[in-house]
Amino acid sequence: MDLSKYRITQAKGNHLKDHETDDAAGLRKGKEADALLAANIERLRERQEVLFAHNKYGVLLILQAMDAAGKDGAIKHVMSGLNPQGVQVKSFKVPTADETDHDYLWRAQAHLPARGNIAIFNRSYYEDVVVVRLHNLLGAQNMPAELSDGDVWDDRHRQIRDYERYLVENGILVVKIFLHLSAEEQRERLLKRIHDPAKHWKFSAGDVEERQHWDKYQDIYEETIRSTATEYAPWYIVPADRKWFARLLVSEIVADTLERLPLSYPELDDKQNAVLEECRRILEEESEPS
Ligand code: ADP
Repeated sequence: MDLSKYRITQAKGNHLKDHETDDAAGLRKGKEADALLAANIERLRERQEVLFAHNKYGVLLILQAMDAAGKDGAIKHVMSGLNPQGVQVKSFKVPTADETDHDYLWRAQAHLPARGNIAIFNRSYYEDVVVVRLHNLLGAQNMPAELSDGDVWDDRHRQIRDYERYLVENGILVVKIFLHLSAEEQRERLLKRIHDPAKHWKFSAGDVEERQHWDKYQDIYEETIRSTATEYAPWYIVPADRKWFARLLVSEIVADTLERLPLSYPELDDKQNAVLEECRRILEEESEPS
């Protein structure tokens, strides 16, 4: 699949409205798409094993979206191809009092992937330039007033670019996904949650309130993505109106990311090979239990 259409590495020429929310790359729901997803899950499985054994690189996968865009479903599908030992999912909620007593990147730090591991962020420090900006929450989150002036968002975008550069330069790959949903599809999904008792637990009146700010959210997301899209930490804008396609594309992006890393199984040196040989000899010489 050609991912260049979805990958954003610079501000120039990239506007959210130019990206369709119902694109499916010419594919149809059904057998063919299912087979592609299954193949990607297998690619993920293989590459994650090498990532883990190689134990040098980590992968940070960030998912951002409007409510009901399908973050949870995308994570569930990607996870189905991964060994749980090497992957952690962290969901970022409204910050606790302890968290707002620190700078906004602090709470992410503890959840970064270890070498050989993948961390999936369900929301992230990008909330601190999206929802915090939209609702003007800097004061409530203990930022000094004199540091919260008009430049604060440009400053934070720069800080995020610098932070991600730091991570990449230290072997932590950063991949950012925006699940791009249409307002109409969100409306239908929220209504489904209301109509289906089995989905009531997923429904939050807050989602309907946030929806009232739809256009403003889109503008802020667009500016955020443009300002933080870099060659070293690209954004992917994933059309999210069709759940099956969004999941397929996310699996493709993660598999592609892992395949681009120069990973290999560690090679044993002469001494380690000699130990291996000796252990083989001992085990083979042991008499089998009768
Ligand atoms: P989700 O919608 O991700 O499934 P929740 O329904 O618990 O999970 O929503 C988490 C909420 O936390 C979202 O409304 C999100 O905007 C909010 N949130 C996350 N990070 C921050 C932050 N730094 N400041 C304010 N709100 C935040």
